[in-house]
Amino acid sequence: MPRLPDAIVVGAGPAGSMAALVLARAGAKVRVIDRASFPRDKLCGDTLNPGSLAILDGHGSLGDDIRARSLPIRGMTVTGPGNALVTADYPDDLRGAALMRRDLDSMLLEAAIAAGAEFTPDVAVRGPIAGPAEAGPHVLGVRVATASSEQDWPARVVIAADGRHSTLAFALGLARYAAAPRRWAFGAYFTDVDGVGRHGEMHIRPDGYIGVAPLPGGMTNLCVVRELVAGRKGPRRIGDPRRGADTSEPMNAEQTIASAIGSDVVLRDRFARARRISDITTLGPLAVEARDAGRPGLLLAGDAAGFIDPMTGDGLRFALRGGELAADAALRELSSGVPAFEYLRNARAREFAGKWRINRVLRSLVASPRGVAVAASVAARWSAPVRVLIGIAGDVHLARRC
Ligand SMILES: Cc1cc2nc3c(=O)[nH]c(=O)nc-3n(C[C@H](O)[C@H](O)[C@H](O)COP(=O)(O)OP(=O)(O)OC[C@H]3O[C@@H](n4cnc5c(N)ncnc54)[C@H](O)[C@@H]3O)c2cc1C
Repeated sequence: MPRLPDAIVVGAGPAGSMAALVLARAGAKVRVIDRASFPRDKLCGDTLNPGSLAILDGHGSLGDDIRARSLPIRGMTVTGPGNALVTADYPDDLRGAALMRRDLDSMLLEAAIAAGAEFTPDVAVRGPIAGPAEAGPHVLGVRVATASSEQDWPARVVIAADGRHSTLAFALGLARYAAAPRRWAFGAYFTDVDGVGRHGEMHIRPDGYIGVAPLPGGMTNLCVVRELVAGRKGPRRIGDPRRGADTSEPMNAEQTIASAIGSDVVLRDRFARARRISDITTLGPLAVEARDAGRPGLLLAGDAAGFIDPMTGDGLRFALRGGELAADAALRELSSGVPAFEYLRNARAREFAGKWRINRVLRSLVASPRGVAVAASVAARWSAPVRVLIGIAGDVHLARRC
């Protein structure tokens, strides 16, 4: 009889592949499943900050292999209303890296497979297999849909790394859409954008923000993030935010990107010759709140464990480190038989709570047009706080420790 997998990892994004890599290297029998086949695209700013690279450097040559396929990112340029502009390099010659997510995610998955994880693509998880009610809400595996059938796939531990709208976290009431902020992201790739250097760019505006990043091969990544105000004229209205489950696309993607660029004093001229070379991808509502880090038999990792806003460009760091922490918790649960989701909850709080607090303050600032105006006017005269924030957003303390 085939041996039951020790762990099923749902989702082969950065969190899932990192969790699988750590588990497989520790000798666990791991099966990774994803509803997509790889390589697959993913809407993202495509930038790894220095802290993310430091995490990858802890796994053999992975960091260097990824650097070899990427553009080095020296730091960030941040602009705001009223000509506020600050460009800062990361300290100590630290670098980030920019490459398309289809390439990054494939490399991470290949590393997990090379370490011994088994990968099954094109399999969508429909929900958890729940244990007997009297045993409490214990997860015993996952119900999956393949091209031909629905099946139960048991495992001793399940790691849900299936992204923002995690089927498993939502099914178990561990996650829900946040009432606020209600932001949507629109992303596309371009060529022939003028003035793209070796810095990531964040253009903060009263109605949202625009990220621009250079990519290998002369490509440029553009992400536009807009707040949806219920009842505002124009975009379709989202339903009662208390329900928190309306995922209907609220704006016309082409128009949103065209008007964001066309009306922007900094970007208008730089995109005058630009050619869009991809479809536009839309994602939202972005903010998902997670109530806990799992259940007995289930551990959450990456965006499945909560996601608010991509503004600080550190989601990949949370995903990679969250994958490591989930794997560590899974190994504890496998060896002791004792549920480890509380251990994971505490480990995540210890490592992430400080950064979450800073990110929350920044997000509130950007959500208020008045806050943006005041911050921009301060930054136009005094750039030091913005430089410090660029270092914090880049998680440079992790890279300095190495
Ligand atoms: C607009 C935008 C820009 C961003 N820019 C940056 C940036 O520049 N830098 C940065 O660090 N972070 C950025 N982020 C955040 C970053 O993209 C995420 O934090 C990161 O992708 C999380 O990784 P993950 O592995 O948790 O989830 P994902 O990357 O979303 O992977 C989840 C995987 O699960 C699979 N899956 C989903 N449901 C199922 C199912 N039911 N069954 C089976 N498989 C399933 C999916 O196919 C997918 O492969 C950005 C996010 C957004 C929205």
